[in-house]
Amino acid sequence: MTLNISEDYEPECDSCQAPTKAANYCDGLCYEADYDYLAYTLFPDWFMSKREPKWLKVSGKNVGWRRISGYDKVRGGIKPLFDYLTINGDWTLEFTLDGGDLSVRRSSHDEPTGCTYTIEALNILSDSMSIDSAIEQELVDEYGCHKGCGEYFYDCNCEVEE
Ligand SMILES: [Zn+2]
Ligand SMILES: [Zn+2]
Repeated sequence: MTLNISEDYEPECDSCQAPTKAANYCDGLCYEADYDYLAYTLFPDWFMSKREPKWLKVSGKNVGWRRISGYDKVRGGIKPLFDYLTINGDWTLEFTLDGGDLSVRRSSHDEPTGCTYTIEALNILSDSMSIDSAIEQELVDEYGCHKGCGEYFYDCNCEVEE
């Protein structure tokens, strides 16, 4: 195999004609367009349909070279989610919105066969009821604080107990 790449070689993407550093994908305008679609259309549609939860439950399968499974609590929003899903080095993220279910497939050097994440709204007490019904159910004290953690009801991030 012969590679003929000089120092000033500047590959160009077939789709957007913008310079890209990689040969088999576009990190130029195509990447920006894809990210914009994710950040301004796909994610907000899902996020609104879940009534803008404060926290997300992000469950991973086959993560990293040790193929770990488990879940993390991530702040509700595209930036924290994207930061959580992106890793050092090269990666590919494939977001799928199917009905109301959001999932992500990531491929990377350590995850050649890919790992998957499902994104769900975490059921937080203060997202799921008003302070009045919390008082009624005796979940808050006379200062409006959640008895479970002592935080002011609307600042509390406790999950609803099933
Ligand atoms: Zn491109
Ligand atoms: Zn609490």
